[in-house]
Amino acid sequence: MMDATLIALAESARGFMPPDEGLALHAAACGVPDASSPMLEIGSYCGKSAIYLGAAARERNTELFALDHHRGSEENQPGWEWHEPDLVDPEVGKIDTLPRFRRTLFDAGLEQHVIALVGDSPTVGKHWKIPLSFLFIDGGHGSEPAHRDFELWTPWVETGGLLAIHDVFPDPADGGRPPFEIYCRALESGEFEDVSATGSLRVLRRIA
Ligand code: SAH
Ligand code: MG
Repeated sequence: MMDATLIALAESARGFMPPDEGLALHAAACGVPDASSPMLEIGSYCGKSAIYLGAAARERNTELFALDHHRGSEENQPGWEWHEPDLVDPEVGKIDTLPRFRRTLFDAGLEQHVIALVGDSPTVGKHWKIPLSFLFIDGGHGSEPAHRDFELWTPWVETGGLLAIHDVFPDPADGGRPPFEIYCRALESGEFEDVSATGSLRVLRRIA
């Protein structure tokens, strides 16, 4: 179980991770058998999910790579549903969630276990060569970004390792399709099996 101070910090951090799903993420990441391979999340925003996963990394004696270009997804841009105007750097005229992310992880005391990777997911993915014990996909939610993240990053999940996908909505009335589609792709590939479902969070295990 995560300690109460960290839970409170995670809940007060800005972002898009309901408390029950965050705790499920933490519990899943703590349950990975191999402690040696690192974990990676795609889509960190202000560091909310990175607290849940970073706490698990610390418990497992490993590290979490937190990958984000910190310029926001399509739906975070001005005029879209999930825009937060105070996250725009006025001098640059673009969203910049990196300062907030660093502050969140500093306050949580997790800087030693959470390594920010600042860059575009497919560009970083092109060079990646590290097996992962845990992969969390919560980056761009459009069709192209979601399927591309699936294709580029899931091959790095080691056998027995876990793949978590956020914002999976089986009913189209509840939200966009791409996260649900990549969840289905994972199951249909025969390489992953279901482990748990909490709200819109799905956790799968690599079996082949
Ligand atoms: N996990 C976060 C929410 C992530 S929101 C939480 O717990 O609150 C989605 C994030 O994905 C945004 O911060 C956005 O900048 C990032 N993102 C979208 N497309 C990306 C890409 N191609 N490369 C890197 N990051 C990307
Ligand atoms: Mg999400």
